Amino acid sequence: MNKKRLLFASSEVYPFVKTGGLADVSHALPRALNNSYEVTVVLPLYSLIDRSRFGIVLLDTFEVAMGGVSYTIELHGTLFEGVEYRFVYEPLLCEREYLYGPPESGYEDNALRFGLFSYAITQMVRTEQIPLVHLNDWQCALVALLVKEDPKIISKIVYTIHNLAYQGVFDLSVLGQIGIHERYFTMEALEFYHQVNFMKAGIAFADSVTTVSPTYAKEIMSPEFGCGLEGFLHVHRRKLHGILNGIDSEHFSPVADKALVECYDSAKGKKASKSDLIKRLGLKGVTKPLFVFIGRFTHQKGMDILIETLPKIAELECNIALLGEGEEGYHDSLNTIAKQYGNVSLTFGYDESFSHRMYAAADFLLMPSLFEPCGLNQMIAYAYGAVPVVNKVGGLADTVKKFESYDPKSTTGYGIVFTSATSRSLLLAVKKSCELYGDKKHFEEIVNHNMKCDYSWVESAKSYDSIYTRLIK
Ligand code: ADP
Repeated sequence: MNKKRLLFASSEVYPFVKTGGLADVSHALPRALNNSYEVTVVLPLYSLIDRSRFGIVLLDTFEVAMGGVSYTIELHGTLFEGVEYRFVYEPLLCEREYLYGPPESGYEDNALRFGLFSYAITQMVRTEQIPLVHLNDWQCALVALLVKEDPKIISKIVYTIHNLAYQGVFDLSVLGQIGIHERYFTMEALEFYHQVNFMKAGIAFADSVTTVSPTYAKEIMSPEFGCGLEGFLHVHRRKLHGILNGIDSEHFSPVADKALVECYDSAKGKKASKSDLIKRLGLKGVTKPLFVFIGRFTHQKGMDILIETLPKIAELECNIALLGEGEEGYHDSLNTIAKQYGNVSLTFGYDESFSHRMYAAADFLLMPSLFEPCGLNQMIAYAYGAVPVVNKVGGLADTVKKFESYDPKSTTGYGIVFTSATSRSLLLAVKKSCELYGDKKHFEEIVNHNMKCDYSWVESAKSYDSIYTRLIK
């Protein structure tokens, strides 16, 4: 059977370049779809990407005109794990220290950079006549408008919102620079409180809009979670679907993970990993419960309530280890706490292998997120036998059931669930976790159950497949 071509566009893809969950999704979902479609993944060739490690070579060059300026685009490519990758190179887009900007703010010319990325993608769609295009987040949302504006392109567009908190909002003056006609500066299209909003282009002009969990799909139509787009999303609700993300079960598997000091399954257990990390971090007490936090140090991830609660958690009989990076204010507050408490360990930075060792060592994973479109950490935690402690929002509500209702026949994982993002609730949840940990039999039962749950991409890829099929029928 002739497989249909699918172009999957994303601003980051693991293992080439990653700042968060978008990169994991953009790596795993195309792999899961590759049997049913002829998938090409396209991303920018940032200077941070190691071209020789991945055998990335120049394939073509072409010109794109944006806002009256002509740019020479280099198109590079490689085949990796059976999937075709294309990389867009232009110095303005790619020669940067960070992908989007330093932690506190985005680069000032991001509209131009990702406008250019979008023009390059559109050019590929036009010349190669690709029938299906899947766009992700604001960085390539303009493609939806550019494709619909071009009568020569008949491609169908799926647009996925990974996080509504990042919409790509810029000053009105960028409109001319990105070559978008003023007729699109309306409430129905790009206008957003007198500014230009890239994400609105994706929502307005795509044939189908998805987001990364069923609960988040509902939440974003409310003022509390809609980030100002709740009304706009409500208008487009008929084409909005919530599809849960999965995790790459090969990459996140303690049975064969080369990053670990010792691989394990649920029968063998994770003692060696825990002892090693405790020692490495200079903590004491292997028998005490170990709580970890892995992620961006941002308001979204519950950093404020975590910092407020941390001294009280540290008074309990437990160890706490944090890995991540983010705003300077958070770093300072965390440093102050870690100096005061010997059972709090801090690792600043981004380290994929070390994060795997942390999941493997942990008894509990803290996720006090204020909102969470899907969240991958809790599913990774299941795979490595760490019990998630979560605020019940977005994807966390869809993937973590409270352990008090444990049913061995369920296919969902269990954790400690709280329902208001406050320091008090978090502290109570941690105390509950310590009690559960004290009941060894019950704790191990839950850990073993979680490790068997299937959070791979198999089911979710089928949901995307049925959306594509409907669109190209
Ligand atoms: P985000 O909102 O940041 O995208 P997700 O839960 O969707 O959050 O995905 C986070 C991914 O990034 C997970 O794979 C997690 O393990 C990883 N991650 C986050 N911070 C770090 C870090 N400092 N070092 C290594 N991996 C990290």
